[in-house]
Amino acid sequence: MILLGSTGSIGVNVLNIARVFNLNIDTLVAGNNYKLLNEQIEEFKPKRVVVKDKFTADKINFKNIKFGEDEILKTIEESESEIVINALVGSSGIKPTLKTKETNKKLALANKESLVMAGKFIDMDNIVPIDSEHFGLWYLNNGRKIDSMTITASGGALRDYPLEKIKEAKLEDVLKHPNWSMGDKITIDSATMVNKIFELLEARWLFGIEKIDAIIETKSIIHSMINFIDGSTTAHIATSDMRLPIAFALLGEVDKQITPFVNWEEIASLEFRKIDKERYPVWQIKDKLLNKPELGVVINSANEIANIRFRERKINFIEISEFILNIFKEYENIKINSIDDIFMIDKEITQKYGDKNV
Ligand code: NDP
Ligand code: MG
Repeated sequence: MILLGSTGSIGVNVLNIARVFNLNIDTLVAGNNYKLLNEQIEEFKPKRVVVKDKFTADKINFKNIKFGEDEILKTIEESESEIVINALVGSSGIKPTLKTKETNKKLALANKESLVMAGKFIDMDNIVPIDSEHFGLWYLNNGRKIDSMTITASGGALRDYPLEKIKEAKLEDVLKHPNWSMGDKITIDSATMVNKIFELLEARWLFGIEKIDAIIETKSIIHSMINFIDGSTTAHIATSDMRLPIAFALLGEVDKQITPFVNWEEIASLEFRKIDKERYPVWQIKDKLLNKPELGVVINSANEIANIRFRERKINFIEISEFILNIFKEYENIKINSIDDIFMIDKEITQKYGDKNV
């Protein structure tokens, strides 16, 4: 496989699964974490390695080390490997996604931002999602007639934080996810509920579904639900562990136990909460986005700028949402007719409002 983002939270889990099932690693792509990447090269002996920049490349123990986005795209094109795992973060994932589609390789997609930005112009054949909710929906989809779908949210790190104090929440508070550990960007996206907006759009494109909504389930053992037209609902339940969707994405079917079964006596009770627009202001534009999902590109660009500003402690937590809502207002009537429009809008927002470096 070609693994993009091998040193990240998803990338490391992909390599865990590769280890268990003895899968061959053709290419490793990473950003700046040279220490971990050197260990991965030593263990998995890839044929090709590409990193983000020359500075990191100089620290990598690999003879033919390459760097830069063009080399990532070239590697996808040239490798004989039939599957690309895109676990890059943010808009750095879009061009690799488009290149993978061009080559007709299978795309195991963790980089949801690709679909949020450009889902309208991406053919969904041969794409398998590495996201627990979408994996759950895929698992539940049994061919019966579907009425609607629901995905669950954890509520993020500030779900129980006093509302009047949320402005004062520190980066450290926001990075403490209640139920599991992920990369910093998505952990912040989870606290603002931007991640769930992204996932609604992701589901919209992957399953072609318009009736899709989300609800908070505080223990994160239910990942998604499908309402069938007969009035029944099924739910995908599993211990939270990204290795499960990853194993299915890589192998198609799985005949080994990946996660422990849910222990019902320990769980004892479940709690659902409506997503509150005061705590999660971005939820105000959820319906508008589902009606015009190609506006995902606007939200993605605005969020990348705000997310990095929050990490640099330049804005407070609530200002992330305010910034996104303002940019949305400015761009909500824009017409998006092609992939070129997507890149143009992303560039315009980035140049106008900030520096992106997720
Ligand atoms: P991380 O920040 O942990 O990992 C990102 C990876 O991408 C790292 O390997 C990083 O390298 C690499 N990278 C970043 N920029 C570049 C670049 N310009 N060129 C090459 N490599 C780069 O993120 P996550 O693993 O948490 O998330 C990855 C994607 O998966 C995101 O889109 C996220 O939304 C999605 N996702 C994540 C889940 C999770 O549980 N973490 C769950 C569901 C979806 P380095 O660290 O070496 O700099
Ligand atoms: Mg998810």
